[in-house]
Amino acid sequence: MSVDPAQLDRDHLWHPFTPQRDWCGEEPLVIERAEGSQLIASDGRRYLDGASSLWCNVHGHRHPGIDRAVIEQLGRVAHSTMLGLSHPGAAELAARLVDLAPPGLSRVFYSDSGSTATEIALKMAFQYQQQRDGQEARRTSFVHLRDAYHGDTIGSVSVGGIDLFQATYRPLLFQTHAAEPGDAADLERVLAAHREEIAAVIVEPLVQGAAGMLVHPPGYLRAVRKLCDRFGVLLICDEVATGFGRTGTMFACEQEQVAPDFLCLAKGLTGGYMPLAATLATERVYEGFLGAPEEQRTFFHGHTYTGNPLACAAALASLDAFERERTMLRLQPKIRLLTELLDEIEAMPEVAEVRGRGFMVGIDLGEHDATLRLGDRVTLEARKRGAIIRPLGNVIVLMPPLSISKGDLRRLVEITGESIAAAHDAAYAPAAAIATPAPLPRAA
Ligand SMILES: *Cc1c(COP(=O)(O)O)cnc(C)c1O
Repeated sequence: MSVDPAQLDRDHLWHPFTPQRDWCGEEPLVIERAEGSQLIASDGRRYLDGASSLWCNVHGHRHPGIDRAVIEQLGRVAHSTMLGLSHPGAAELAARLVDLAPPGLSRVFYSDSGSTATEIALKMAFQYQQQRDGQEARRTSFVHLRDAYHGDTIGSVSVGGIDLFQATYRPLLFQTHAAEPGDAADLERVLAAHREEIAAVIVEPLVQGAAGMLVHPPGYLRAVRKLCDRFGVLLICDEVATGFGRTGTMFACEQEQVAPDFLCLAKGLTGGYMPLAATLATERVYEGFLGAPEEQRTFFHGHTYTGNPLACAAALASLDAFERERTMLRLQPKIRLLTELLDEIEAMPEVAEVRGRGFMVGIDLGEHDATLRLGDRVTLEARKRGAIIRPLGNVIVLMPPLSISKGDLRRLVEITGESIAAAHDAAYAPAAAIATPAPLPRAA
């Protein structure tokens, strides 16, 4: 039977965050294979993976060490359960994550996506406060930042701040308090106004990714930590996007010497190989859940594929690669190169601002009529030139694998610059130039 995946896709698939009517009117790009920083389409064409396959690839595709670790694990067991049983990979990975994470985070609770990692932190923080003595049980609410993104499940959407993702579901969402990103005085006002109601503050440390790579001013995260301590509130750091080297350090928290009460990890955890997430918590939080079973202090939460052995094997191999390949050391000159290359992009008349930290970059094209779909046009132009990138509205995101070569990094930024210019020209071309030409007379 010959199957055309593109046709099957149009007939049966439903894509995430995708206006399906337009999708079905276009020819989908079908990725069949990948190698290092390149994705290979079904027609054999190669593309630079400029978005790390949605912000998660770290050491490149088909990494020999990670491939081997997953294959070896297949020879043992693909899946068992963490409910009532344990396995070596989950235990070893937990120990290594605790070792790497900011001090004080000593317990690892697994799940399978960034959304569940944050959802779990919210539920843990809430239950922890409920199980404390006296007044603290009144702490039932959360503070988040405006334009925040913490995932797509109802709990994680409730603490999100992006209207487009929230508006439809508003009646389903729980009540929260929003603070202005990067403004410690505003957070202080919110915490002071709701002194005894707040269970936890949730933030994306240093860079709010989905907001369009919004960068917080230096010192902000440290100020957030201090305020949480002053008001007796737990701090949840969502490092789903910033974790595993993205911002130039293993975790963004390190840059401000901040240790949160919860650390949420997902995207880069397995090097971008498999769905695995972890919510790290402090021993103080963990101890709040201890007691005789009949006291019902247990955390009643767990996903079927939690701590999947294949995913844990990939994550362990990814951490090995960080050590063996000295990934963080070798990243530093590439960050400097990227910063230099982006100076030229920022100087382009079509570009309003370039923001970001490390290998987490947003190129803001400024305000444009939404019907021009400028960001999408840039993506299509980049595709013609051999790179896969994905915009957030009119912000072009560059998030290459940490392992990308300097040559490929140069090429990626070059393609991005050319694509921005070409998309801008096409979008603002005088009407005459884009009008459909008169039909040619039919050849006799
Ligand atoms: C992507 C992301 C999430 C959600 O992760 P999923 O795996 O897509 O559920 C949560 N928080 C942040 C900061 C993210 O970038």
